[in-house]
Amino acid sequence: MLYFDNAATTKIDERIISSYTKLLNDVYANSSSLHKEGRKAAELLNKSREIISSLLNVKNDEIIFTNGASESNNLALKGVAHKYSNRGKHIISSKVEHPSILNCLKQLESEGYEITLLDVNEKGTINIDNVISHLRKDTILVSLMFVNNETGSINNIEEISKRIKQASKTTLFHCDATQGIGKIPLKLDNVDLLSMSGHKIYGLKGTGVLVKKENISLEPLIAGGSQEYSLRAGTSNYAGDVSLAKAIKIAFEEQKENFIHVKKLNDIVRDSLPNDVEVNSPVDGSPYILNLSFKGKKSAIVSTFFENNDICVSTVSACGSQTNSKSYVIENIFKDEERAKSSVRISFSKYNTEDEAKKLIEVIQKVGKEIL
Ligand code: PMP
Repeated sequence: MLYFDNAATTKIDERIISSYTKLLNDVYANSSSLHKEGRKAAELLNKSREIISSLLNVKNDEIIFTNGASESNNLALKGVAHKYSNRGKHIISSKVEHPSILNCLKQLESEGYEITLLDVNEKGTINIDNVISHLRKDTILVSLMFVNNETGSINNIEEISKRIKQASKTTLFHCDATQGIGKIPLKLDNVDLLSMSGHKIYGLKGTGVLVKKENISLEPLIAGGSQEYSLRAGTSNYAGDVSLAKAIKIAFEEQKENFIHVKKLNDIVRDSLPNDVEVNSPVDGSPYILNLSFKGKKSAIVSTFFENNDICVSTVSACGSQTNSKSYVIENIFKDEERAKSSVRISFSKYNTEDEAKKLIEVIQKVGKEIL
């Protein structure tokens, strides 16, 4: 099988598997235990925090380990909402966020918070003036994604976060950077909170981080011990956290070459698309994602056709594929239900080759001829 579903999750880098399995054997004490073995584990945990914070250019105690971006998103949104409800109950986000944002906001709405979900433009990105014009005195949080997981559209997070800080002293800014960190450079100067996952950058599933700047308080989701500055109780998964630090380090070190490689694959496929295929990803988006609509052909049928030709692609995001037959992201961008019902996401990784891209093109070209 050729694997082109890397936005759902990536193959794990061998270097991470080998260091992780070694660590599982070598160090197994609880990192909160005070004895020598526990201290060894705590040291590994601290070292991982140091590595990640220096790569992201934030402070050590601004790194909170979680089990992935869904948890980080929930901790950021609910944590801020519950902590700062005395300031206000208004939150701004967008209609094309990941379900771990949108469903979290629905829960907050049912608790009495007021949610404004912004539309995106034809590139799938947020208009900055539109964000600023929706800010109110009681807006406690703006949450916007860096790279869209269905289309690869890139929001200008540096500019958006800067403008929000200029416009308001009390509104916090959260960014779901799950599809961007380690792939596309991002400065966190004006970002208060940031979510990411290890398994999108060749790391392990069940590893992730919430960056939380030190001047911000959060209400924890889990009550319990004092791990992660009392914001995420539970025995530390330090072997996972070490593996995450390694995944982020490798991703940053190889970011440029991976980007160039993946962009080349993306260009090869884009340049050979048949006329009846609509491209839903903007040309200046992340090259890791190429979203296509096959006119008049249902997403599920097209993705099964790919599977029958030994290629893994995705219909809507993996997190929604069981329940949705059309993409709310594509529908919001193009206001076209048919296009949203026929969209398929191809997503690349550093492991894909030019030969694989060429095989992918052959199958794309067969779709129009063989699915009637
Ligand atoms: N946000 C975005 C943009 C994503 O693409 C994903 C993964 N599909 C998540 C959040 C959730 O990540 P995880 O499954 O690791 O919790």
